[in-house]
Amino acid sequence: MHIRKQRLLTPGPTPLYPPALHAMMASDIHHRTEDFRKVYKSALADLKEVMGTSHDVLMFAASGTGAMDATVSNLFSRGDKVIVCSAGKFGERWVEIAKAYGLDVTVLSAPYGEVVTVEAVAGALAAEPAARGVFVQASETSTGAAHDVRGMGRAVAKTDAILVVDAITGLGTMPLDIDGWGLDVVIGGSQKAFMIPPGLAFLAVSPKAWKFADTATLPHYYFNLKKEKKSGDAGESSWTPSTALILALAEALKYVQQIGMPKLVENAQLLARATRAAVEKLGLELFAPHSPGASVTAVKAPRGMDSGVIVKEFRNRFGAIIANGQGSMKGQIFRIAHLGYFDFADLFAVIAGLEIILHAHGVPVEFGAGVAAAQEIYAEAAVAPQTVNA
Ligand SMILES: *Cc1c(COP(=O)(O)O)cnc(C)c1O
Repeated sequence: MHIRKQRLLTPGPTPLYPPALHAMMASDIHHRTEDFRKVYKSALADLKEVMGTSHDVLMFAASGTGAMDATVSNLFSRGDKVIVCSAGKFGERWVEIAKAYGLDVTVLSAPYGEVVTVEAVAGALAAEPAARGVFVQASETSTGAAHDVRGMGRAVAKTDAILVVDAITGLGTMPLDIDGWGLDVVIGGSQKAFMIPPGLAFLAVSPKAWKFADTATLPHYYFNLKKEKKSGDAGESSWTPSTALILALAEALKYVQQIGMPKLVENAQLLARATRAAVEKLGLELFAPHSPGASVTAVKAPRGMDSGVIVKEFRNRFGAIIANGQGSMKGQIFRIAHLGYFDFADLFAVIAGLEIILHAHGVPVEFGAGVAAAQEIYAEAAVAPQTVNA
């Protein structure tokens, strides 16, 4: 047997930032103490800075879906008309949540791999002047496509509706000017570009969105935005917080601040660009060629090959966990992630591994061709050698 390291290379959970993991060991701390209040307050402040917003930022002990659920239950009422952009499994999740709470949903759908356009949103708003909200994914992780949330913000800002953005994999992979673009609710999750384990959900709430909380009548209890805002201002969370994860987050945010959010975004975008170049060089097709995002690159398996074989081979040969397609895309595509704690060394290895796997399954590949394409992007972008230790 040879050495085979475990590598978590999925678009959530993502690779963990080691100092953040170490910070979790200091969680023998009580959450109603000054010591913890200090940590919590500064984590919320740093999160707000990293998200680049003046809006209130709240945190819940939940996976990202918890903040999606909280947004619907706190800001809307049964029967409210809403428009949901659905271009993948996470768009479908918005539809399911909105329907579960009895909202009157108009679905704007795009085929998997494509996106819902700003024009479609503007048209739906014009046709439905009573619409109270527009829901979208900044980055649709299931297909690798990214929506034009900037354009959508412009369209929604002219109306009485709010724009609710699931940016769970958008944060840290694309520029998001929350205040400037009119993004009323922006949702994030800990296990994506924040480089820590799953279990924290974040959301930034605009003044326009807060007004919705005053009139909304849907029932909610655990996820209470107003209560959480009041608690957060006092340096506490309403319920027992995930102290370990908050310690980890505080550490990871320091790292993001050190490199800078724009650089984190650029990192993901460069890796995504290099990945596209590499897989195309290998003769593979992108699943979302028209609006590719930088959180993850979805690649079609070669004709006649189940993408599950590639996923399994990565695990068996290289101890690497990469993502298959979800739902009906399972078996059709595999997904190479770039969000958070990924670097070029990871990518070179993934592409080299992919070449070996394709070759082993009779797909003609010239060893090194894909890697060279990625190397060229690296060289072109003149990624500066770093002497500072992460
Ligand atoms: C990961 C993810 C979510 C959240 O899923 P959870 O399992 O609840 O963390 C939501 N939307 C998108 C686009 C995601 O990538």
